[in-house]
Amino acid sequence: MKLVIPSETRTGEKRVALVPEAVTKLVKLGLKVSIQADAGAGATYSDSDYVKAGAKVFTKAALSKEIASANVVATVRPLSTRQISALKSGSIALSFLSPTYNATEIRALARVGATALSFDLVPRISRAQSMDALTSQALCGGYRATLIAAEKSTKFFPMLMTAAGTVQPAKVLVLGAGVAGLQAMATAKRLGAVVSAYDVRSSSADEVKSMGATFINLGLAALEGTGGYAREMNKERTKAQQDALKPYVTDADIVITTAAVPGKKAPLLITKDMMSQMKPGSVLVDLAAETGGNIQGTIAGKDVKLKVPGGLITLVGCQDLPSQIAAHSSKLYAQNVVSLLSLFTKDGQVKPDFADEIVAGSAIVWNGEVRNALARETLKLKPLAKEGE
Ligand code: NAD
Repeated sequence: MKLVIPSETRTGEKRVALVPEAVTKLVKLGLKVSIQADAGAGATYSDSDYVKAGAKVFTKAALSKEIASANVVATVRPLSTRQISALKSGSIALSFLSPTYNATEIRALARVGATALSFDLVPRISRAQSMDALTSQALCGGYRATLIAAEKSTKFFPMLMTAAGTVQPAKVLVLGAGVAGLQAMATAKRLGAVVSAYDVRSSSADEVKSMGATFINLGLAALEGTGGYAREMNKERTKAQQDALKPYVTDADIVITTAAVPGKKAPLLITKDMMSQMKPGSVLVDLAAETGGNIQGTIAGKDVKLKVPGGLITLVGCQDLPSQIAAHSSKLYAQNVVSLLSLFTKDGQVKPDFADEIVAGSAIVWNGEVRNALARETLKLKPLAKEGE
C-alpha cells in the first residue's frame, strides 16, 4: 500500500510529516512511501536522504496524481481542500485536524469518502503515548518559548559572580504547567533562572517541583476537568486568580504563559493592569497567542511594547513555535506517525479498526461519515445514535 507525503501548504510551516529514518521504518512495514520534492527542505532533510531511506520523490506537478493513488496521506497541518479533492474514496488522511476550527476540511474529507485520523484527538492513554503528537509538539513549543524570552531579555538568566560584580538570576514565572509549561520551566532552569509556576490543576504541583521550580499556591480551588485537563474558569474565578497573581507578575523578569482548556478559547490570565507595575525590560511570552491569548494585548506573530514606569516591557505573541525547531519537531512528529500507522499496518496492509479506542478516538471522519461528536456539532449535524439505540 502507498503512503504519500505532500509538502506542507501553510505559509511559514517548516515541518514535514516524515523524516528519512521514519521512511526506513515504514518501508520495513511493507509500505511504499512517496514524498514531494523539497518537502523536508525547511526541516533540513534532503530529497537524496529520503531516496536513500527508500522513498520515491515526486515533483509538484505530479502531486494530484500521487494523492489520487495513495492509501494514506500524512501531513502536519490538515490537507488543503484542493488536495482533499484528489483523495480516493476509502483513503486515510493523517494530520492535526481540529474538530472545532477545520470545518471546511472535515466537510471536504467526508465528501470524498475518506477517513481522517487527527493527532488532535489521539486518546491520552499509556498505549498511545508514542503517538501523542500534541505532547511532542508542545514540548518543542515550551523549549522555544524560553529561548525566545532569553533572547529578548536584556538580562542574564543565570546568577553570575564576576570580578565586575554579581548578577542576580532572572525570575521566570510560568503559568500553565502542562507539557509545554513544564518544558519551558526545565529550559529556564537549565539556563540558571529562578523559576516559579502556577496551574489550576492541583496535581501539577508535584510535576512543577520535579522541574526544580516552585509551585505557587494562590489558595484558590483547583479546576480539574476530565482526562487530566483543566476546567474553564468562570468570571469570578478569573478575577480572583488575576488579583492573586498580580504581585507574582509584577515581581517577574520573564513571564511565559501556556494555559489552555481543550476545545475552548485560551483563558485570559494577565490583564494590562496586572502588567502595569512590571520592571522595564521585562518580557512576557504568550504561547496561547494563536488561540485567543493568555495575555491581554498579545498578537500572534508580533512583538508588542507596553509602557511601564521608567520604560517598556515586551509582549511576544508566539506563532508556529514547533516549526521554529523544525528538524527535531519533525523527527518527533514522524515517530508519532510511524507509531500510529504501526498500530494498524500488517504485512504492508493498512487496516485501521474502529473497535480500537485509539482509532475511534482519533477518527473525525470514518469512510466518509463524520464520527466525532464535536466535529458534528461544529458542522451542525445531528448527533449519531449510540450503539444499541
Ligand atoms: P493543555 O495544553 O490543555 O493546557 C496547558 C496547561 O494549562 C494545563 O496544565 C492546564 O491545567 C493549564 N491551565 C488551564 N487553565 C488554566 C488557568 N486558568 N490558569 C493556569 N493554568 C491553566 O495541557 P497539556 O499540556 O496537553 O496537558 C494536560 C494534562 O495532560 C497534563 O496533566 C499532562 O500531564 C497530561 N498528559 C497526559 C499524557 C498521557 O497520559 N499520555 C500525555 C500528555 C499530557
